[in-house]
Amino acid sequence: MTEVLMIPGPIEISEAVQRAYSIAPPSHLAPHVIEAFGRSLERMREVWCASPDAQPFVIAGSGTLAMEMAAANVVDPGEHVLVVNTGYFSDRMAEMLRRRGAVLTEVSADLGDTPGEEEITAALESADFKAVFATHVDTSTGVRVDAEMISRLATAHDALSVFDGVCATAGEAFEMQAWGADIYLTGSQKALGLPAGLALLVASKDAMAAREELDSPPPMSIDFHQWLPIMNAYEGRGKSYFATPATTMILALDVALGEILDCTHGDATGIAARIAQHEHVASAMRQTWAALGLELLPASGEIAANTLSAIRYPEGVGAELVGEISERGVIVAGGLHPELKTEYFRVGHMGDVITRRDALIKTVEAVEGALIAVGVEGISPGTAKAAFEAALAN
Ligand code: PMP
Repeated sequence: MTEVLMIPGPIEISEAVQRAYSIAPPSHLAPHVIEAFGRSLERMREVWCASPDAQPFVIAGSGTLAMEMAAANVVDPGEHVLVVNTGYFSDRMAEMLRRRGAVLTEVSADLGDTPGEEEITAALESADFKAVFATHVDTSTGVRVDAEMISRLATAHDALSVFDGVCATAGEAFEMQAWGADIYLTGSQKALGLPAGLALLVASKDAMAAREELDSPPPMSIDFHQWLPIMNAYEGRGKSYFATPATTMILALDVALGEILDCTHGDATGIAARIAQHEHVASAMRQTWAALGLELLPASGEIAANTLSAIRYPEGVGAELVGEISERGVIVAGGLHPELKTEYFRVGHMGDVITRRDALIKTVEAVEGALIAVGVEGISPGTAKAAFEAALAN
């Protein structure tokens, strides 16, 4: 049986992306690698909705490395930072900042919710913050923060804004330039539609300037200053070397970004269309979970992510549901946040799979079949498919 990988990363990828990296590894100086690298950097600005003077970086590594790169390039030891904390990955960001020697203030809400504008404003007024850090979508809770509001508040308080977009970039609206955000970072294995292996971020002019003003330089391997000439060389289609790039992944990145920019959905094109597709599928998923009598972990549909559903187990059901779903050929994930781990499961819906109706229907049918198999009553077979298709048709 072919399995469908519906965890919140790594994810199903397109055949074209798979073909792009399934080759003998080329040199980092090969002309087609240089071209793919340079074009990927240009395409990142489009996908990130970033200004022409914003600087993209791509290095070998995972999302965690991109988080570390952001923290170490804009904050000096002893500086105040605000963390808008919505779960497990915000906790990770906070710990990284502590290790960098930053003085932390955290603003949070009950798990499954986000702090509001008033609380964030009050927190911002409590000290002179260098930067605000937030997790755009915390994969542990399926909660999305209002990144536009946080960016604007940070700017109004003369602080930089840094967003962990690992579970959001290319699946959730993010207008880096229009909102005045300073760093948006991600890993390759989520909504960008690649395997794991690349750490990616785009830094604003102010974030680049913040690096130059640091007293304590970041570790060399993640230093903006060290990587800038390399990114410039690739964008100018020239040869360069600092640390070996993941060349096959760069070829695949070019293809994945190209697929995103080629999207159409209604009148929308490019990244706007890709995000609209994610919104459309996420809404259909949520309507299907409701039809099955399931409840979401996020406190409201408004803050529920496009990229995954975090769903509470029904009364009397636990992790055996995930096993039952996998027996039906669909791999989903259990809970992640240590405080609630046993109370919910997660279904990823991001990247190429959102265009594959068959895989999406297989997913909702597997959840329905598993619920019936573990003894949940009152579900008539066919409910999930009917609800999903009806929602998708709207
Ligand atoms: N931030 C978020 C929101 C994530 O979902 C993840 C990965 N699940 C990470 C950071 C860490 O990324 P990686 O596992 O690629 O290091």
